[in-house]
Amino acid sequence: MTNLLDLTFHELESLIVSLGEPPYRARQVWQWLWQKSCRDVATMTDVSKALRTRLAEVAVIAWPAVAEVRESRDGTVKFLLELTDGERVECVIIPEKDHFTACLSTQVGCAMGCGFCATGMLGFRRNMTSGEMLGQVLVARQYLLDKGAVLALRNLVFMGMGEPLLNYDNLVKTLEALHHPQGLDMSGRRITVSTAGVARHLLDLGRMGLCALAISLHAPTQALREKIMPGAAKLELSKLIDILAQYPLKPREKLTFEYLLLAGVNDADANARELVRLLSRVKAKVNLIVYNATPGLPYGPPAMERVLAFQEILKSKGLTTTIRKSKGGDIAAACGQLRAECAGGE
Ligand code: SF4
Repeated sequence: MTNLLDLTFHELESLIVSLGEPPYRARQVWQWLWQKSCRDVATMTDVSKALRTRLAEVAVIAWPAVAEVRESRDGTVKFLLELTDGERVECVIIPEKDHFTACLSTQVGCAMGCGFCATGMLGFRRNMTSGEMLGQVLVARQYLLDKGAVLALRNLVFMGMGEPLLNYDNLVKTLEALHHPQGLDMSGRRITVSTAGVARHLLDLGRMGLCALAISLHAPTQALREKIMPGAAKLELSKLIDILAQYPLKPREKLTFEYLLLAGVNDADANARELVRLLSRVKAKVNLIVYNATPGLPYGPPAMERVLAFQEILKSKGLTTTIRKSKGGDIAAACGQLRAECAGGE
């Protein structure tokens, strides 16, 4: 059975035409899927009974099932979601000043093997379909509606389990569906794709203009990157920066570099100076993230004085630098932690 959430608008149109209906019916069905959170074809009341019957014979609407929800004291909510084949992924929603941001997964597990990441420890299991990626948005939005939350889900970051650019075709389908005006109608300014760097897709993604880009850098030298991010380091750091120097940016737009501070590993003054040198060739801003300790992994967060000293060096060299507080520390909100816990540390 086809999951209707996996179809692009044009694929849905073709399906509807193949069932003997005019293509404009696709718009109605699309609105039911993405604007009205419909989960059963039979409830699409303004669609003819004949089309509903025929659609139900060939397709379903399969949202990811919520296997577990954990709510943090700081308002962060983490979902463990079960996909139709029993695989599990995580999705987190984070409260900001006037909205929620959802952190979405793109793969079950991850092949990149970053040493500080619980998902990396899992290894790669499979790519998520576009319907599964978008299903996370539907689940998160519904949860907030059911809770009567004052703040709405407005921003999306593809920063959960997996390397988005290693699931490129499904990522692009997902981004296109997010933009569709009769669907979720989300602006690219509200969507960020975070990548450790996959050479063959970076510039294409930029040219499409469907999202902002964040680079998970985490190390200022090739040697250190090889140590803590062996998969990502297969693309030489200097080559990554060469590619990013060509990345299409709007006037005043900057690339965001995520830098996870790991105590005693990449948080020294010398590392900050190396980072300044590395980023001198690109229009950059830096997001410092204090590591959320993960059971079983040999890394810890630096003291706040160290974080501030690191930031000060970057700022003194003119680099816009913010510190992102880790949220949801009490609910295993770091990537892959909840799945690992619920699988008995699989
Ligand atoms: S940090 Fe991201 S790229 Fe690295 S292993 Fe974890 S999920 Fe994969």
